[in-house]
Amino acid sequence: MDHLVFDNRFVRELPADPNDAPHVRQVQGACYSRVQPTPVRAPELVAWSREVAAMLDLEEGDVRSPRFAQVFAGNAVLPGMAPYAACYGGHQFGNWAGQLGDGRAINLGEVVSTRGERLELQLKGAGPTPYARRADGRAVLRSSVREFLCSEAMHHLGVPTTRALSLIATGEEVVRDMFYDGYPEPEPGAVVCRVAPSFIRFGNFEIFAARGELDVLEKLAEFTIARDFPWIEGSPAERRAAWFREVCERTARLMAHWMRVGFVHGVMNTDNMSILGLTIDYGPYGWIDNFDRDWTPNTTDEGTRRYRFGYQPRIAHWNLLQLANALYPLFGATEPLQAGLDRYVAVYDTESRRMQADKLGLASFSDDDQQRVDALHKLMTKAEVDMTIFFRELARIDVDAPTLAPLDEAFYSPDKRAVHGAELQAWLDDYAARLRAEGRPAAERRAQMDAANPCYVLRNWLAQEAIDAAEKGDYSLVTETLEVMRRPYAEQPGREHFAGRRPEWARNRPGCSMLSCSS
Ligand code: AMP
Ligand code: MG
Ligand code: MG
Repeated sequence: MDHLVFDNRFVRELPADPNDAPHVRQVQGACYSRVQPTPVRAPELVAWSREVAAMLDLEEGDVRSPRFAQVFAGNAVLPGMAPYAACYGGHQFGNWAGQLGDGRAINLGEVVSTRGERLELQLKGAGPTPYARRADGRAVLRSSVREFLCSEAMHHLGVPTTRALSLIATGEEVVRDMFYDGYPEPEPGAVVCRVAPSFIRFGNFEIFAARGELDVLEKLAEFTIARDFPWIEGSPAERRAAWFREVCERTARLMAHWMRVGFVHGVMNTDNMSILGLTIDYGPYGWIDNFDRDWTPNTTDEGTRRYRFGYQPRIAHWNLLQLANALYPLFGATEPLQAGLDRYVAVYDTESRRMQADKLGLASFSDDDQQRVDALHKLMTKAEVDMTIFFRELARIDVDAPTLAPLDEAFYSPDKRAVHGAELQAWLDDYAARLRAEGRPAAERRAQMDAANPCYVLRNWLAQEAIDAAEKGDYSLVTETLEVMRRPYAEQPGREHFAGRRPEWARNRPGCSMLSCSS
């Protein structure tokens, strides 16, 4: 691993907290604090991603060496690394929350790969930082398995995301919100190494605007454009306008993807919004089983359901508005910011229509088609229809004589299917007529649909099965689940289990239906 080349621009170019002490505090006038990971007792490699290792020029031998587990659990720091925790704030559930920061995430350094790619390495669960507030800086195995698997599953689905290099069990116990007979039950701890070109969030900008530290705000904005958006050129005003517009566009594309694959983030606070438009911070996220725009996986959000599935595009817009407010002092004018927000609406509209056309196998997408989709969504909700299975199997209907038979597997309730079967058949007849009118070859339409409608997504209960085994010391299901998720658009014989509907045992089981933020 000594061949890794580090060039730590974040640390080198941005203002540092002069205080190197580890205690929790408000950090003024600085983008980060220097901090060392806290060593753990017995690091053991649980799983790793071969694609991310390859991006970093790491070979299997590197990953399987005992030193790898030491470094990526936080027990050793490689020459060239410069560990730090970033200072950021954020709006949580719609309210300004003040300073948050990397409370348990520790950035190790920025690798420059032989391909010239710049990638930050970040440990999650590596011990407390000045931003740990009242918490311990650790992560439990179950939430680390979820972050590791979902990061990679999302990437293979074609959804922008931070990546995960490794998942390492710490050999230590962590106490969280799992209770047994009323007592908190200790759980195994773990550390995930996350990888992304940048972990900068909307909240990194908001904190300096909120504090009136406009010189730091400006430095961070200029740094972000120079390091993470190097293709943007022009005068300072032009560059900033183009940058904000691009953040808005990327966020719009991300939202269209989440809606396409049925992903619900669960905690779309502005500190969990990536400036690169990546999915970031896999906490109490979930996947849509039976279609329901009102579903949220986050127990903390049960009351208002702010972060429910169907609301995500609107929330992203609101979050961009908070970012615009924070950046306003650097613009001195509202027009470029409003232009960016308008771009968000336009790009989301275009991307969402394109993805809906792909899901239905249509060459074009009209307002009538949007109504068709809206009607379908209502029916799917009433009839309790599995989103992933329905869209995947929709490509297999006979356009000349459509029946619900190919969609059998998508129904959760025979009763509801019986009640709504006629309406669904009527929808299908209309849809088939629409396809006949387009008159495209069936193979072409199916290829379009199969590339947009995954067969395998990391359903909550699939992650939970991998977790249950891992907590008993059997890590093989984590690796097998990762293998399946590497090719989500290809039917994999023998792996039908991973493409199935949510089993009855998982309907109300914690971890499968609802999750809390504190994992
Ligand atoms: P999250 O809800 O995971 O986005 O976290 C919100 C804030 O709480 C961030 O500043 C996190 O770094 C911090 N945080 C969450 N869990 C922990 C933990 N176990 N130890 C320290 N800080 C944490
Ligand atoms: Mg977070
Ligand atoms: Mg979190």
